[in-house]
Amino acid sequence: MNIFEYFFLNSQDLCFISNFDGCFEIVNPYFEQKLGYSQKELLEKKFLNFIHPDDTAASLKEMEKLKEGEVSLGFTNRYRKKDGDYLWVEWNASPNQADKKIYAIGRDITKKKIDEENGQKYIQELRNSEQHIKAIFDNAPDPVIVIDEKNNVVKWNPKAETVFGWKTNEVLGKSLIQFIIPSQFKESYDKEMEPFLTKGFENLSNTSFEIEAKNKKGIEFPISLSISSYKIDEKKYYFICFVRDIAQNKKILDELKISENFLDSIIENFPAIIFVKNVSDLRYVRVNKVVEEVFGFSKKEILGKNDYEIFPKEEADRFVANDKKLLDTGKLLEINDEPAHTKYKGIRIFETKIVLVKDSIGKPIYILGISNDITDRKRIQTELDNKTKELARSNIELEQFAYVASHDLQEPLRMVTSYLQLLEKRYKDKLDQDAKEFISFAVDGSNRMRTLIQSLLEYSRINRANAFENFDVNLLLKQVQKNLSATIAENKAIIKVDDLPEIYGDPILINQLFQNLIQNGIKFKNDKDPEIYISCKEEGNNYLFSVKDNGIGIQKEYIDQIFVIFKRLHGRDKYPGTGMGLAICKKIVERHGGKIWAESEFGKGSTFYFTLSKK
Ligand code: ADP
Repeated sequence: MNIFEYFFLNSQDLCFISNFDGCFEIVNPYFEQKLGYSQKELLEKKFLNFIHPDDTAASLKEMEKLKEGEVSLGFTNRYRKKDGDYLWVEWNASPNQADKKIYAIGRDITKKKIDEENGQKYIQELRNSEQHIKAIFDNAPDPVIVIDEKNNVVKWNPKAETVFGWKTNEVLGKSLIQFIIPSQFKESYDKEMEPFLTKGFENLSNTSFEIEAKNKKGIEFPISLSISSYKIDEKKYYFICFVRDIAQNKKILDELKISENFLDSIIENFPAIIFVKNVSDLRYVRVNKVVEEVFGFSKKEILGKNDYEIFPKEEADRFVANDKKLLDTGKLLEINDEPAHTKYKGIRIFETKIVLVKDSIGKPIYILGISNDITDRKRIQTELDNKTKELARSNIELEQFAYVASHDLQEPLRMVTSYLQLLEKRYKDKLDQDAKEFISFAVDGSNRMRTLIQSLLEYSRINRANAFENFDVNLLLKQVQKNLSATIAENKAIIKVDDLPEIYGDPILINQLFQNLIQNGIKFKNDKDPEIYISCKEEGNNYLFSVKDNGIGIQKEYIDQIFVIFKRLHGRDKYPGTGMGLAICKKIVERHGGKIWAESEFGKGSTFYFTLSKK
């Protein structure tokens, strides 16, 4: 074996000899081993058949060069292995023009090629991610600043330019953190950064804190700083600082705090029970101090509990049923006369309203309840109701008494009067002047008593009067004027009547009402001839009637007293009467559900007003 053969057989390179047609004539064992083909499968085959289709053209060209006699150094192509994979080979080949053969030695560079490809890919990926990071950095909605261990700025994004006012070129390489932090806060900044320096960057890779910052114009504002450290190599560290301007947040928080305080003070000082329950578990999350006062439980004893842990089961069942009803309907729920146990005051009665409190998307979060202890009010109301009933009963009794008494008194009175008159007639000649005068006083007195008894009887009869009906007040007033025609004529009175409505009531009583008022208007006249003006206007559900005269008027201080039974402002000698007229008027108006009152200018006349319901 010559040296060439030895080299050929033992070489760790791919070696072959081919003819000028490109057919393998000899391949070495390493070639066989690398491609996985045997000598037999390769010999006399064209090597072009084993080359990657993409490399065929270049390989053919290289073959031509060799055939021309040129040496080929460092040409690379891919060979197909028997298993289908390809092998990258770098060839050195030379032709032998004499025997028209090509001698080729190739080195397997597959690994190198793959490494190269991967390397390029890696570089591309690196470039891509650099682009991504740059895009994030440039478009970050908040300032992002990179500094080195000495606090010198390495990177400064566009948002940092707008927030702090300094351009990138003004800050690069400068200890900027030192000058965006106002001097009085530098110490606290250093304190926050201290752990990085003392504990080492790897043990504490990030921190965040709030601090006051300032911009180029010197305006100070609060920021939150999130700082992370990262390592380039064993010795080199950087800090990436994410800055957030929290002035707006702070303002919102301040406003929130104010409205929270506002709400707290309303809830605490509201003069009724306020409670708040969670919708999820119906446990109390808030109660005000009235709850403590009324129920005797401290807030501590209530908060976090549900109704079953505070009240007897039957009560808790009721409260929970109300909550469920509220949750089902979503509508404000009013619960009246609801009994509940208290710690020291036994069972109290409550009037409660509950509503749902919803979050921003309309989901119910809380049940808010406002409640009043109405136990005392209820008791007073019941007492009042009882007293009113009692009063009504005793009024009826009194009326009955007045009715019976005045009715029964009439007869003996009539007897007294007639016997007195008989006495006067029969013993006329035997009685002296004094006796006659005494008898006449007695007759006069008993007459007056009869009138009084009659008006009392009239008064007590009002509530036993007839059924109500619809009637025209215009017609009724015509009748009244007819009844009073003698008085009207005698006093030269002028009665003016507006157009009046039809009303629903007792026509006999209303007749009497107008008659009394008109009579008074005439009776209490001035030196002028009396003028009475009757009109009516609508006022809501009522008619407001007025009877106006031009008489003597009524002094202000007496104006409310004139409706009282037997109350008179003048002596009988000046204006005759019983003092019952207006009391009767009042009772008639009240029987119709209305009100009566007078207004007057003393000396110039009076107006009597009364209301009657339209229905
Ligand atoms: P009487 O007319 O029998 O005195 P009333 O009850 O009708 O009783 O009236 C009570 C008092 O009210 C009268 O005595 C009078 O002083 C006063 N009064 C009533 N109507 C008028 C009026 N139109 N003008 C002035 N005073 C009046």
